[in-house]
Amino acid sequence: APRPHWLFGDQLGPHFLDPRHGGPDADAPVVMVEARSVLARRRFHRAKAHLVLSAMRHRAAELGDRVTYVRAGTYADGLAKALGRGSAQELTVRHPTSRAALEFVRARPGVEVLPAGGFLVPHDDFARWAGGGRTLRLEDFYRWVRVRHELLMDGDEPAGGRWNLDHDNREPPPRGRDTLGAPEPWRPAEDDIDAEVRHDLDRWERDGQVSFVGRDGPRLFPATRREALSALRRFVTYRLGDFGRYEDAMLAADPVLSHSLLSAPLNLGLLHPAECVERAEAAYRAGEAPLNSVEGFVRQIAGWREYVWQLYWHFGEDYRHRNALRHRAPLPGWFLDLDADAVTANCLSTVLAQVRDTGWTHHIPRLMVLGSRALQDGWDPAAVTDWFHRCFVDGYDWVMLPNVVGMSQYADGGRMTTKPYTSGGAYIHRMSDLCGPCAYRPTDRTGERACPYTAGYWAFLHRHRDRLAANHRTARAVQGLDRLKDLGELLAERDRRDGDAPP
Ligand code: FAD
Repeated sequence: APRPHWLFGDQLGPHFLDPRHGGPDADAPVVMVEARSVLARRRFHRAKAHLVLSAMRHRAAELGDRVTYVRAGTYADGLAKALGRGSAQELTVRHPTSRAALEFVRARPGVEVLPAGGFLVPHDDFARWAGGGRTLRLEDFYRWVRVRHELLMDGDEPAGGRWNLDHDNREPPPRGRDTLGAPEPWRPAEDDIDAEVRHDLDRWERDGQVSFVGRDGPRLFPATRREALSALRRFVTYRLGDFGRYEDAMLAADPVLSHSLLSAPLNLGLLHPAECVERAEAAYRAGEAPLNSVEGFVRQIAGWREYVWQLYWHFGEDYRHRNALRHRAPLPGWFLDLDADAVTANCLSTVLAQVRDTGWTHHIPRLMVLGSRALQDGWDPAAVTDWFHRCFVDGYDWVMLPNVVGMSQYADGGRMTTKPYTSGGAYIHRMSDLCGPCAYRPTDRTGERACPYTAGYWAFLHRHRDRLAANHRTARAVQGLDRLKDLGELLAERDRRDGDAPP
């Protein structure tokens, strides 16, 4: 008889079970474990808990008699329940996406770990590419993936003659408009399984078994393969064309703009990255979407997403504890509770409300509003990572560590990025409509209306002056510090500030 196969909750697409793509034996019985301990350990966004449980239960319903779906306290209990306690039964599993889960499966006798399923680049290929002590740069990695997977290539040359069209993809939002007016993104309709999930979450919350943050409105992201394909189709057909141009812009009334909203179904394994980039390329070849948008989208998925996945394993377990800037401040209560209404700075309040209501924002609010606040105020990077992991529908250990420890908090001292990502209010003002109605002014460094991002930016440069002066990418910004006549006043004002007062 074929060995049973254990399916994790982020391995939900059909390709994970396909024997031709590294999956288990064709008719292997499937085990799924819904472990309460995962939810009880941390205070997740409720919409995220809802999405993951809904997706797992939908998958179980599809697999029907083939699956044993157990609800248990822990993974170990669940497996015992499904397979019989004490049985040293052999089991297969696809390579999990977190170190903790990988250790768990490796420690169990009789478990064979099959190759990971949700990515373009196998670990061994990356190891060969990264070997020989080369500097790991996204741009080099991305070009290598493009060539190897023949993505947007004309022979040996990149389609259109350029590898990187980022330059065309940094436009501020169109003036005087509060939305882009792009066709609506795909959104699901809930069903009985969602109702059951909501009922269970209510009950567990009432019993005090779990506690959540955020609002669990109607489900906003795909929970099945069919839904995920609808979302992908809608994006490629109607929204991809404008993806590039306003990729970095922010509008209060239009948080999604032309972003794909595909990170959640990708990270649940409902979509394979190859099908996403192939469909985008097909749209370009058919003349239905411009190159800057298609290249931008391919770069996000075949470049960034793959790169982050590989770096998670490459950097090792210690990476989680890196704190190169020695930031130790705890996260303030209003941030932990997603209390957007307590926040005065309009950009932060708006973005925090988006997280509270949907568990999602696009990359610039994550990096330049939320992450930048944490960096400027010196919050403990491990706690910031945990916060992102819990509060975002697409957050998983593998994707959080490089993005938050490295990209956003510079806690790795520059292994992942060449400089810290933070800015004063001027950047937010240029790229959004968030500063107009704000009580603060992006140009003000001191005084009543001093923008917390502008003041925070200079204070950050000052605090890490030596390190940043030695980095050629930030040296000029540090020279700017010396020309500030009001630096002393700015720092004194920040010291006087009530530590917990939300900006
Ligand atoms: P789009 O803008 O439409 O991009 C297309 C796809 O590219 C995304 O769906 C995603 O799969 C992929 N992608 C792009 N950038 C990245 C990246 N840096 N890492 C991984 N995938 C990427 N992404 C997550 O999937 N999960 C996270 O927990 C996560 N946390 C982040 C935290 C911070 C501080 C930052 C700066 C970025 C984070 N990202 C994360 C990356 C990015 O912000 C999201 O993938 C994106 O906003 C999701 O929305 P979308 O699907 O509309 O993306």
